[in-house]
Amino acid sequence: MKRLLISLILYCAIASVTAAEPVKVLIVDGQNNHKWAVITPLLKKHLEAAGVFKVEVATSPAKGGEMETFRPKFSDFDVVVSNYNGDLWSEEARRAFESFVAGGGGFVSVHAANNSFREWKEYNRMIGLGGWGDRNEQDGPYVRYWEGRIIRDASPGRGGSHGRQHEFALDVRDPEHPIMKGLPPRWMHAQDELYDRLRGPAENLNILATAFSDKSTNGSGHHEPLLMTLTYGGGRIFHTALGHDVPAVNCVGFITTFQRGTEWAATGKVTIPVPADFPTAEKSSSRN
Ligand code: ZN
Repeated sequence: MKRLLISLILYCAIASVTAAEPVKVLIVDGQNNHKWAVITPLLKKHLEAAGVFKVEVATSPAKGGEMETFRPKFSDFDVVVSNYNGDLWSEEARRAFESFVAGGGGFVSVHAANNSFREWKEYNRMIGLGGWGDRNEQDGPYVRYWEGRIIRDASPGRGGSHGRQHEFALDVRDPEHPIMKGLPPRWMHAQDELYDRLRGPAENLNILATAFSDKSTNGSGHHEPLLMTLTYGGGRIFHTALGHDVPAVNCVGFITTFQRGTEWAATGKVTIPVPADFPTAEKSSSRN
């Protein structure tokens, strides 16, 4: 009897491992001032390569189209990834998204998704920091990292800017966070826009990594937060300001933090390992 019971327990344990459900991801796109139709397939490919995700895409009508028809069923998924920067979603879609995240759903904001929806207060609480769309001091403080501290600067001025595109170093600021654990303290990121002067409500905001925005590249002269986590009700959010174009999205530093950030937003844990081709402090690393 005892042996049978042990066999049964073992069987169940093995069955639960082999039958592990994939993390269900929905990527939303359809409007963006970036090449969303090129970038979304790369985001999907990079997630699928991790082996733990099942990915679907919901594409909105084109700009000026009938947004009432865009009603993704967020509740069918564990995490929503936004590659969207465009027209305001319908009231119904907005309320559904708020309920999804507040109720424990994951959300990942990629690059210009933080340009979207200045007028949608709850969305800005989810992303914490945003840029453009006429954002200014009324939207919240600038948030910078300085000597181990997060500085909130309420001074007036535009929200969102960037200097010229270049390769730049990411500095890890929360090495114990599951998304960052095992990454080198500094790595080179492939050519990208380095967002600066982002501002927003910045509630429940944790900075995972920053990059120094050098005035020599028309930057701000500050250490700018580029990888962040937030919470919104019961939901977890991973915010990556990286990913302007193909070289940035194919950078192994982007891919790894995007995969791990998406898993963390969905489950609160990270099982995806740091790959052998992860960039070093001196050299970026890319995949096709
Ligand atoms: Zn961009």
